Amino acid sequence: MTTQSDTLVIGGGIIGLMTARELARRGRRVAVLDRGRTGAEASYAAGGILCPLEPWRLPGPLRQLAARALDEYPKLVAELEEAGGCRIGLRRTGLLLLDDGAFDHARHWAREYGFHCRQLTAGSVAELEPELQAPEGALQFPDMANVYAADLMEALRRELSGLGVLHESIEVQGICHKGGRLTGVITTDGDMEAENVVVAGGAWSAVMLEALGRTLPVRPVRGQIIQYPAGAVTLERMVLCGRRYLVPRPGGELIVGSTLEESGFDADTTDSGRHELATAAEGMLPRLATVPIEAHWAGLRPGAPDGMPFIGPVEGVTGLYLNTGHYQNGILLAPLSGRLAANLVCGESPDLDPAPFLPSRRMVSRS
Ligand SMILES: Cc1cc2nc3c(=O)[nH]c(=O)nc-3n(C[C@H](O)[C@H](O)[C@H](O)COP(=O)(O)OP(=O)(O)OC[C@H]3O[C@@H](n4cnc5c(N)ncnc54)[C@H](O)[C@@H]3O)c2cc1C
Repeated sequence: MTTQSDTLVIGGGIIGLMTARELARRGRRVAVLDRGRTGAEASYAAGGILCPLEPWRLPGPLRQLAARALDEYPKLVAELEEAGGCRIGLRRTGLLLLDDGAFDHARHWAREYGFHCRQLTAGSVAELEPELQAPEGALQFPDMANVYAADLMEALRRELSGLGVLHESIEVQGICHKGGRLTGVITTDGDMEAENVVVAGGAWSAVMLEALGRTLPVRPVRGQIIQYPAGAVTLERMVLCGRRYLVPRPGGELIVGSTLEESGFDADTTDSGRHELATAAEGMLPRLATVPIEAHWAGLRPGAPDGMPFIGPVEGVTGLYLNTGHYQNGILLAPLSGRLAANLVCGESPDLDPAPFLPSRRMVSRS
């Protein structure tokens, strides 16, 4: 295959597609290479909550990035819906936090970043969500939203496919450079030259860097989700208790997530994962004990230390960039992260400080 591209993006998950979208909007001739179908890995599996699960635990720069990220969504979704004539399930359902041990942290975080938050007694929760067990009451965050990740990925895929940018079923097997300058990539479809390459390979990103003698601390972290059928229970809002969450879908289905497992590149579902999630769900919504699980899936998050993504140039190889390691927050962060990566590739001044996210902070060269 030959491409007329100046910039190649490796990986067509949400991070690669948002990066390519931003680059195309800046007039770059961009191509996305994915070894499978774009959007079919972690990004498809995601719960789609547009807020970190426990934002107060994140390092400061990531907490700040995450707090800004939700604001990007209404415009993005409106543009994609208008261009594609489709509906993407972006819904500001709000979120109920049940874990009273986290209330103080959550209140403080909401105050710091200007999110609305109010304390509900058990009785007020019962009025809002009659089926939900919340004996300690809840903290309500009415601003919180979620998106149906599968629909979002389809809409992005359609838009970029219309621009002729997507190249699927092509695996990148090597990154080439000469005299400290990137020259292109080796793929299952032949060699391709490029001025710039952005690695957005999700959980597999470190594998690509390894061949260059670089150690990138991004590892796969499996997450499983189960889904109950539409009409099984009535729930209007997202619910979070510890690391377990419930998200009502626009069609009435309910998803329950998610596990955090160090299982290498094994993306299979397990009986124990299913059991753990079902037990947590039944504790919150007892009626689910009588409802059969409708679907069960898993994906591999690109796990990075402290959840801090790597965005920016790789030192020592001019023209090579990373946009990866978004761990549990890739859907939320993708619009800002894609824009920041495009800013850096195009030599523009970004509207947010890239320093905390630069790969040089943690990447090790073995040469
Ligand atoms: C169960 C679960 C629930 C989640 N819930 C949420 C949530 O509620 N909110 C949120 O914000 N985030 C959530 N996440 C995290 C989010 O899904 C990820 O952070 C995000 O999808 C990562 O996107 P990505 O594009 O980096 O990776 P991916 O979507 O995995 O895409 C990487 C792509 O790179 C391609 N690729 C890899 N190697 C090569 C190669 N050598 N050549 C060519 N192509 C290659 C793959 O085929 C793949 O398509 C969740 C994740 C999981 C698993």
